[in-house]
Amino acid sequence: RSNLLEGDFYAFQDLLAPEEREAALRLRDFMEREVRPIADDYWDRAEFPHHLIPGIAATGVLGTAWPESRRFPNSALFRGWAAVEIARVDASFATFVGVTSGLAMGAIGVGGSDEQRAAWLPPMGRGEVVGAFGLTEPLAGSDTARGLRTTAVRRGDTWILDGAKRWIGNATFADITLIWAKDIDDGQVKGFIVRKDTPGFKTEKIERKQSLRGVQNADITLTGVEVPEADRLQRIDSFKDLAGVLGPTRVGVAWEAMGIALGAHEAAVRYAAEREQFGRPIASFQLVQQKLAENLADVTAGLAVCVRAAQLEDAGKRRDEHAAMAKAFCTSRMRTVVARARAVLGGNGIQLDHGVARYFADAEAVYSYEGTYDMNTLIVGRAITGRQAFV
Ligand code: FAD
Repeated sequence: RSNLLEGDFYAFQDLLAPEEREAALRLRDFMEREVRPIADDYWDRAEFPHHLIPGIAATGVLGTAWPESRRFPNSALFRGWAAVEIARVDASFATFVGVTSGLAMGAIGVGGSDEQRAAWLPPMGRGEVVGAFGLTEPLAGSDTARGLRTTAVRRGDTWILDGAKRWIGNATFADITLIWAKDIDDGQVKGFIVRKDTPGFKTEKIERKQSLRGVQNADITLTGVEVPEADRLQRIDSFKDLAGVLGPTRVGVAWEAMGIALGAHEAAVRYAAEREQFGRPIASFQLVQQKLAENLADVTAGLAVCVRAAQLEDAGKRRDEHAAMAKAFCTSRMRTVVARARAVLGGNGIQLDHGVARYFADAEAVYSYEGTYDMNTLIVGRAITGRQAFV
C-alpha cells in the first residue's frame, strides 16, 4: 500500500483503474520533483512557473475528459483524483490547470462544433495552447447569469465585443480566452474564442493578491474586439448551455479543495512529530491528536462526497445541486482543516517555509471562486425547498 497517500485513509484510490493509478503516480512524481521545490518561492514572488507547462502536459492530465485530447480512457474519478494530486502540492498550479483544462477546454468540449473541438483540444491537451475563461466582470460576480454587461453585436460574419472582465485566470499570457457576452439581438449569452493579440483585447495583471499568488489573474477590457462567427462556440445559445460547462468544474474545485486540505494535513502531521515542547513531540499531546484526527475525518468526508459525485457524473446522473453541494461542503471543510493545521504549527504556521501558510492563504480564494460558498449553498437550498432565495 506504499503508493497510497497517508491522508487517503479510506483508500479511495483503490477505486481507480490500474492505468489511472499509474497515471496518478506519475503525476505525483512530477508534482513532488518539479513543483514542490519551487512552489513557495513562485508564490512569494507572485510569479507563474511557465517552464512547467510542457511537464504537466506530458503527465497526460490536460483535457482528459475529451476524446480529442485524452491519452487513455479515464473516469471522472481519475480526473478528480488528478486535481487532488496537484492541489496537495500547489493550489496555484492546480488553478492554472483547472482554468485551461477544466474551464477553457470544457467550454470548447461542451460548446464547440466538431471542427472547433478538432482545432483546439489536441494542442491544448499538449500544453501548446493555453486557455483562459472570461465570465466574471467588475459588476457581475455571483450574478453572471443575469448581470453580464459585455455585449456582442453581429455584423455579417463578424461579432463585435465590448465590455470588461475581472479575475480571469491565465489571461495575461493565455493564447486564447473564452469570452462570454450577451448578444444584444436575442439577449442570450454566447461564447467566443478570442485570440491573444486581437486588437482591442487588453489584459492587466491583478497585483497584490494575498491568495493563489502563483497564478495570474487579469482585468480585461474589450474595445470593439472583432471575432469571426467561426470562433463563436457553435453549441452555446444561452446561459443554460454555459451552466453545462460549470457543473463538472465545480466538482473539480471540490476535489481541489480536498487536495489543499490534504496537503495542509500532511504538513501538520510531519510537524507534530518533529516539534518538541515540554520534553516530548507535540504529536503526543491529546489536543494535538484531536486536531489531526478531526482533520483526517474532514478530508475523508470531503473525499467521499467527491468520489460519489464522480460516480454520478460517469453514470450521467450528476445534477447542478450535486456539484453545488460538493463545492460548498468541501471548500468549507478545507477552510476548517487548513485553520486547524495552521494552529498545530503555532507561530511557524504563518510562515511560508513550514508548509502550511500557503495552503491557509490559498484556501480563501478557492472558497469563493466558481460560485461562492453562499451561492452554492443557495443552489442546494433551492433544490430542497423549490424556492430560489438569491434573486
Ligand atoms: P460577489 O458576487 O460580489 O459576492 C460578494 C459576497 O456577497 C459573497 O459573500 C457572496 O456569497 C455574497 N452574495 C452575492 N449575492 C448573494 C445572494 N444573492 N445571496 C447571498 N449572498 C450573496 N472568474 C472567471 O470568470 N474566470 C476565472 O478564471 C476566475 N478566476 C478567479 C480566480 C480568483 C483567485 C478569484 C478570487 C476569482 C476568480 N473568478 C474568475 C471570479 C469568481 O468566480 C468570483 O469572484 C465569484 O464568482 C464571486 O464573485 P464576486 O467576487 O464578484 O463576489
